[in-house]
Amino acid sequence: MPGQVIKVERAAKLGFLERLYLPMIAKALWVTSRHFFRNLRGFVTGRNRTDFVVQYPEERVDYPDAFRGIPVLVQLEDGQPKCVACGLCEFACPTNCIRIVSGELEGARSERTPQVFELDLSRCMFCGLCEEACPEEALVMSREVEFASYDREGLRFEKEQLLVPEKLLERRLTFLRAGYDRECEPKGGA
Ligand code: SF4
Ligand code: SF4
Repeated sequence: MPGQVIKVERAAKLGFLERLYLPMIAKALWVTSRHFFRNLRGFVTGRNRTDFVVQYPEERVDYPDAFRGIPVLVQLEDGQPKCVACGLCEFACPTNCIRIVSGELEGARSERTPQVFELDLSRCMFCGLCEEACPEEALVMSREVEFASYDREGLRFEKEQLLVPEKLLERRLTFLRAGYDRECEPKGGA
């Protein structure tokens, strides 16, 4: 989508009051105070909370389906990853934070399976290119954003930590599938 052009109207000459600045400062203080007291009243009474303040972590926001949190692996009902270790996400990742070692596992659903699937979250920038590259809907961007560690090693996630049951990712998968049929806007308007 092309960026929106905002036309800024600049006054050629400042009026007397504008040159004083004090009325503008008073106006800014009035607007700030109004928001502050309205929000304070809403917080105390629990009514008419028009200002959007989330009392995190007691309150949580339901992120939209397009939100990109930690990339996770889709886990099938039999507990196995849907991933077939093709390596496309590893190739697409611009920060080289995915490492896959493919191989055969006894009882696996496909010929190839990721024996190792490692994600270095200290390098991930949540761009979603790995998700776009995946031909199997086996890796999707989750809503999870809460992760912390005292060292970089703690941000290295293994396959077992990345597996999330498919039904918990249904909203994201439905969002992605809706995008398959989305018509592309012609470039240059021609
Ligand atoms: S979201 Fe981007 S940076 Fe993170 S693993 Fe995927 S491709 Fe790499
Ligand atoms: S692109 Fe998909 S199927 Fe291929 S290795 Fe990555 S997660 Fe697995």
